[in-house]
Amino acid sequence: MAPRKLAAGNWKMNGDLAALAEIDALVADYPAPGCEVLICPPALLIHPAKARAGDAIAIGGQDCHADASGAHTGDIAAAQLRDAGATHVILGHSERRADHGETDATVAAKAAAAHAAGLVAIICVGETEAQRDAGETLAVIAAQLDGSIPDGATAANTVIAYEPVWAIGTGRTPTTDQIAEVHALMRERLEGKVADAAGVRLLYGGSVKPANAAEIFAIPHVDGALVGGASLKAADFGPIIAALAEA
Ligand code: PEP
Repeated sequence: MAPRKLAAGNWKMNGDLAALAEIDALVADYPAPGCEVLICPPALLIHPAKARAGDAIAIGGQDCHADASGAHTGDIAAAQLRDAGATHVILGHSERRADHGETDATVAAKAAAAHAAGLVAIICVGETEAQRDAGETLAVIAAQLDGSIPDGATAANTVIAYEPVWAIGTGRTPTTDQIAEVHALMRERLEGKVADAAGVRLLYGGSVKPANAAEIFAIPHVDGALVGGASLKAADFGPIIAALAEA
């Protein structure tokens, strides 16, 4: 069976209680969206967001610690995300890898913690522009997949997001052939590493907008999107959800 498509929004460090009106608008406009919809707001907003999202929209975190609890000032455990109402967590986003020095091993440990807490881990991979220019894209993605996916990963508890670093927040996107090439590699690479590899959702992320969503969702092995800027407003995220539901 084809994997259920997923439109995931990453609010990053944006939004406040008033911004939850955007979730109200999505729920009103897409009460039965036709694909899975997820919003990952800042951690403080997870609980109130869940209270307003109902069954139409899932809520997730943007990071978690690898340990279950303990002396880690400022960090959040996966079980705490779950307790607040999260069902998913984004891990290894390129901004975390760059700003916080997260390695593939860090990401794998966090993903294992997420799985242990019953969360779906959305593991991000992606090449820099210099790596793409050097012809290293496929090798970089393969190495990130090998290093970032923990033992015990399954199609039910793991989603992979291909996010070229140079496409995030820039308005630039790879060609459809470039996305297709990476997604085919990812599908193949998951075989033997993840139970039910064919069922793992593979998202594309990087400057997805209402204007380019349908073209991206038509690419083989693209099972949805991880959306940053365009997930902040229901008026932008809504058409992306609709395009995915129709793909
Ligand atoms: C992201 O940060 O995950 C992302 C894809 O951002 P944007 O859609 O703004 O490029």
